[in-house]
Amino acid sequence: RISYYNGQYMNHEEMSIKSGDRAFYFGDGVYEVIRIYDGNFFTFDEHVDRLLQSAEEILIRDVNRAEVVEILHEIKDRNVILNGALYIQVSRGIAPRDHGFPHLTKPVIYASIREAKRPLSLMNSGVEAVTAEDYRWLKCHVKSLNLLANVMEKQHAVEQGAKETILHRDGVVTEGSSTNIFMVKNEVLFTHPANNLILNGITRRVVLGLAEEYDIAVREEGFTVSDMSEADEVFYTSTTQEIIPVVKVDGRSVGDGKPGRVTQQLQEYFNKKITLLNSV
Ligand code: PLP
Repeated sequence: RISYYNGQYMNHEEMSIKSGDRAFYFGDGVYEVIRIYDGNFFTFDEHVDRLLQSAEEILIRDVNRAEVVEILHEIKDRNVILNGALYIQVSRGIAPRDHGFPHLTKPVIYASIREAKRPLSLMNSGVEAVTAEDYRWLKCHVKSLNLLANVMEKQHAVEQGAKETILHRDGVVTEGSSTNIFMVKNEVLFTHPANNLILNGITRRVVLGLAEEYDIAVREEGFTVSDMSEADEVFYTSTTQEIIPVVKVDGRSVGDGKPGRVTQQLQEYFNKKITLLNSV
């Protein structure tokens, strides 16, 4: 497996990271995960755009788009992985440890690829989720490397044998620890608006596009944990997970406790979109 770090392509196992990399001390950087289906990138430009926007938001300014695009293609082409996930991170750079950052620091890019199968059985059966207070910072729209809160929130689910933690601020559902959350109530699809309290997921955007295309009513507005307990359907989305039905929240069944009809329709439309991508 060939990965990339700080100007060099090398064997993943032989790679060593510079000790002064601010990603290492501070999680000071941003990242993306991009899906590859049958050897083709999915929503490539959207991910590159978001990477550059996240970098800009935390004042990492001199990231070169053409360089990022080249590295992503090189990593895909130098590895023989047809269905996978490409990870890329941009750290602020290498410098002696100090919270304040020297403006001359040059961004350091790391990229690697791994095999990733579509989670077909979870997509069919649905999963259990739990809820917890969202205690993250107020710049959740930045895809930051600093994931400590998300890690702790995810572990909360893992320890209860659930797949995801659905986060809420004062009772209003924001998103999952690494996913966006949707609910369906009376044929209307609800999800939190794309502001500073959530990461505007690329899969979230694809789902909203599909809803529009197939005439499913959408309201991008906050709903509460209590609204969610009355929902007909709940699901979450992400690049690697696609669309996963949530059939139980905090031990209570959602709707009739099975993946819902609207969720299944969206999964089908999503499938079609992937198939189309690979037939051109
Ligand atoms: N929200 C958070 C906090 C995430 O970490 C992620 C992805 O990892 C998502 C949402 C889903 O985003 P995307 O669909 O772009 O993968």
